[in-house]
Amino acid sequence: MHFSTENILQPFHTTWLPAETQAAMLRLDRLHPVVSGNKWFKLKYNLLAATGRPVVTFGGAYSNHLVATAAACREQGIACTGVVRGEQPAVPGHTLQQAGEMGMQLVFVSRDDYRRLTQQGDASAVYRITGARDAYVIPEGGHNALGVKGCEEILPLAGGASFTHVICAVGTGTTLAGLINSATSQQVTGISVLKGAFSLNNSTAELIHPGNRTSWQLLHDFHEGGYGKISERLIGDMNDFYRQTTIQTDRVYTGKLVLAVRLLLAENFFPPGSRLLLIHSGGLQGNESLAPGVLCY
Ligand SMILES: *Cc1c(COP(=O)(O)O)cnc(C)c1O
Repeated sequence: MHFSTENILQPFHTTWLPAETQAAMLRLDRLHPVVSGNKWFKLKYNLLAATGRPVVTFGGAYSNHLVATAAACREQGIACTGVVRGEQPAVPGHTLQQAGEMGMQLVFVSRDDYRRLTQQGDASAVYRITGARDAYVIPEGGHNALGVKGCEEILPLAGGASFTHVICAVGTGTTLAGLINSATSQQVTGISVLKGAFSLNNSTAELIHPGNRTSWQLLHDFHEGGYGKISERLIGDMNDFYRQTTIQTDRVYTGKLVLAVRLLLAENFFPPGSRLLLIHSGGLQGNESLAPGVLCY
């Protein structure tokens, strides 16, 4: 897959950054027109491990992971099936439509079946439901050791050593684990976009290399009501950040990341003189679900 890593590191300044604190955004959203953000990193070694076998993966109706998998499989000539949680909608949303147009076979399953399939990873059940024989199964959100291995290639793109802190938005914790594994001296902070998803602490820790000494934490206070939920404060912040930096953030992940960094700075979470690296993990197409005019971009 061809990527552009030109201008990927963007220093920025805002009125709420203390004068002695530096900040930059790692613009993974600029890597590729379809497979933007962190998703390609999670797929890279999984698709190598598939060795051409059909790929089966899982996601909800708004899953960036399904679209990224569809695009990457198409480019590599691999057949793929996306198992979608919930009833088939009368009109498919933008995300599923895009995945379907790129050749992903979509199979809709009830929430109960979805839970069984994703939790047990039962190959015969996957075959029964998708018809894909000898499939390579990628877990929901690319959350496995090979997904993490790919995410260990993110931080080197920033010349990571010159930063003191790395901060990212967290869904499954795969990206966070990759950043922790590849940090050289930086403190790594994950901002959970889910409400009360405390099990992420363990599921992330399980993917960190034994002996890794990185100082890291996962913060749970910046979900703004839960996954996909928005607040007036969040929307105001996204607009303000865009006006100050011309960097667009998304409603589900990176908007909450920037909001969290602003609030954490206000309570002196980052010591004076810190050099912050924020990971822009993509997801901008999710903003299309907002009413026109809500965002100023
Ligand atoms: C999927 C996604 C994430 C979450 O990454 P995890 O590795 O699952 O924690 C973060 N940001 C964006 C934009 C995403 O699409």
